[in-house]
Amino acid sequence: MKLVFATNNPNKIKEVQSLIPKHIKLLSLKDIGCFEDVPETQLTIKGNAIQKADYIKEHYGFDCFADDTGLEVAALNNEPGVFSARYAGEQRDANDNMNLLLSNLLNKPNRNAQFKTVIALHLNDKLETFTGICKGEITTQKYGDDGFGYDPIFKASGYNQTFAEISLDKKNQIGHRGKAVRLLVEHLNNL
Ligand code: IMP
Repeated sequence: MKLVFATNNPNKIKEVQSLIPKHIKLLSLKDIGCFEDVPETQLTIKGNAIQKADYIKEHYGFDCFADDTGLEVAALNNEPGVFSARYAGEQRDANDNMNLLLSNLLNKPNRNAQFKTVIALHLNDKLETFTGICKGEITTQKYGDDGFGYDPIFKASGYNQTFAEISLDKKNQIGHRGKAVRLLVEHLNNL
């Protein structure tokens, strides 16, 4: 069986392919000849994941899944949320995003935050979603060089190091995306 993962990020494809049942072969957007920007114009993380999966199903006809992730900060009304990638502007620069977040949290005692990933799956004429959440807090400065995005300023609950200081294996184990992917895999394994 072939299933499209609505991404062109080879790392994401590799990571998920290693986790899903062997009889399911993942195809990327490139593999199905999709070279356009898939729209992500919804106001929620879940809405964007569904919009991307719907778009591929409607325009290309493939069963597929799509993911969307955001960082929700309690003291900022859950911002940047769905706007995480372009919080500081369309240049989508991780350092600019982190600097803006740190300055918006200056003098705010509540630094609680959570990463949320939603995966939307179109399979056999049904749409299902899987949500992975990782709770934690925003540090007061950046720590570590690994990872990407907001990793240097996010510490998961119960950990003394940021996501940019722990191993990728550990991050996958406790992180939002890993949790959502494991729910997807469980679903595919039970088909
Ligand atoms: P995407 O939906 O996976 O493309 O993520 C949207 C944005 O959320 C990214 O551009 C990053 O800024 C942020 N983000 C997503 N996942 C992570 C993560 O695991 N660590 C840190 N930042 C992330």
